[in-house]
Amino acid sequence: MKKIFCLFLVSQFILLNISAQKDTVWHHKKCAVVLTYDDGLNVDLTNAIPALDSVGLKGTFYISDYFNGLNEQIFKWRNAAAKGHELANHTVWHPCEGGRPGREFVKPDYDLRNYTVKRMTDEIRTMSNMLKAIDGKSKRTFAYPCGDTKIHDTAYIDGLRNDFIAARAVKPEMLTIDKIDLYNIGCYMINGQSGDEMIALVKQAMTNHSLLVFLFHGVGGEHSLNVSLEAHSKLLHFLKENEKNIWIAPMIEVAEYIKKYKS
Ligand SMILES: [Zn+2]
Repeated sequence: MKKIFCLFLVSQFILLNISAQKDTVWHHKKCAVVLTYDDGLNVDLTNAIPALDSVGLKGTFYISDYFNGLNEQIFKWRNAAAKGHELANHTVWHPCEGGRPGREFVKPDYDLRNYTVKRMTDEIRTMSNMLKAIDGKSKRTFAYPCGDTKIHDTAYIDGLRNDFIAARAVKPEMLTIDKIDLYNIGCYMINGQSGDEMIALVKQAMTNHSLLVFLFHGVGGEHSLNVSLEAHSKLLHFLKENEKNIWIAPMIEVAEYIKKYKS
């Protein structure tokens, strides 16, 4: 009887230890959350960054100049970077694969089917140089425009792995640290969800000890994919209030952490 009781104690100790490890993998917190904002929209500077600053959280901004987000905004982006927000690469011209339903917006000049890998590589490096001129940084993360990762059959990131710590795709998934592919990081694209719906995703990540990446476009307008100011603010306040249990950081910090963990 004594033996059985001892075995029971040992098994409970092992179980506790496993769950404790999972609980602490993200900087001793239950999960990691990255807030990403795409395309370098004006609302990033007028709505998203002031909301983040008001609660002291940092976001990642995937900037492309296709939407004229750099023009007249260089100094504001420089300020945002100085405050700790990440300026990240989303190419210069946001090339995507056209020629299928839902992709009518892709112009022939910026259609990936008309690109070579060399042209894409050059364009992406040019954007990194532009961002370096703004924030002075060399380490960067990337986001695939429209989530398209290939030019014909070639995964164009392969020649750019030394340029980027990580790349964000658009697959909606939250994974534990051991399962994450740094060059194919999933995310949840937000379009019209309520604050409570987004908070439910965070709670799911806390339960699963996973990385949750939000992808926003419009925040209070400017884009057809949009989140209301109220819902965005509700999410940010929930994150701030639960900072003890949630690691909230820019993509580059989280990606470097994952890279170190894996090595
Ligand atoms: Zn985009």
